[in-house]
Amino acid sequence: MVIPFQTSNQLSYDFDDKLKNKIKLKQKKLKKYQRKLARQKKGSTSRNKTKTKIAKIHSKISNTRHDFCHKVSHSIVNSDAKIFAVEDLKLKNMTKSPMPKQDVSGKYLPNMRKAKAGLNRELLSKGLAKTIEFLEYKAKKYGKLVVKVSPHYSSQECANCGHTHADNRKTQDNFLCLLCGNHDNADINAAKIIAKRGVQFLLSKPKAKTRTRLGTSRSKAGRGISKTKLEQSNPLIPMTSEARSL
Ligand SMILES: [Zn+2]
Repeated sequence: MVIPFQTSNQLSYDFDDKLKNKIKLKQKKLKKYQRKLARQKKGSTSRNKTKTKIAKIHSKISNTRHDFCHKVSHSIVNSDAKIFAVEDLKLKNMTKSPMPKQDVSGKYLPNMRKAKAGLNRELLSKGLAKTIEFLEYKAKKYGKLVVKVSPHYSSQECANCGHTHADNRKTQDNFLCLLCGNHDNADINAAKIIAKRGVQFLLSKPKAKTRTRLGTSRSKAGRGISKTKLEQSNPLIPMTSEARSL
């Protein structure tokens, strides 16, 4: 299980080994109790006890993820950058991998490997959404801006020449543009694309409107960002994430 958060200036964030082992152990425990639950008689006291234990483990995993998301968003917002371009997760297809199948009691149905992949993916997508959510409110506090851009084909588009093709990304790690030969880590290339789209988005804002707003009331600035302001600002730090299995 990996949760990398990749920025275009080569920073990446991931659960450290200690945290990974902690989560793995919790997931193992979870499975143990879920198996136990399946054997127990419905309505029995011991079954209810197991249910409570399962709920506790779920909340511990959730807390671990919560802490991690706070650490990542804190570190990103405290960088020199003033504008952050991130993937708009609403536009992202998160259904590629099957979600874990559960019955009403929360027991995982036996499609083992698929269920495991689904669980990790769930951890990843929830973690990413949470980190962006935290980043947004923290950025607001510091007078910084978060721009959400479309993640469509960001893993297939070349950051150097714009050539977009599925064959550009032969493996999870490597990006090799078939047109210009640009070679990069696939996550870093994707992060650069997100950064590019963030800049394009800000530059595409109507200039006349921006000028009027800045001209009439400076205190209202913030929503409209002028081109000069953008150029003076620090480099963008975008963020992308890719699920990878260890
Ligand atoms: Zn290229």
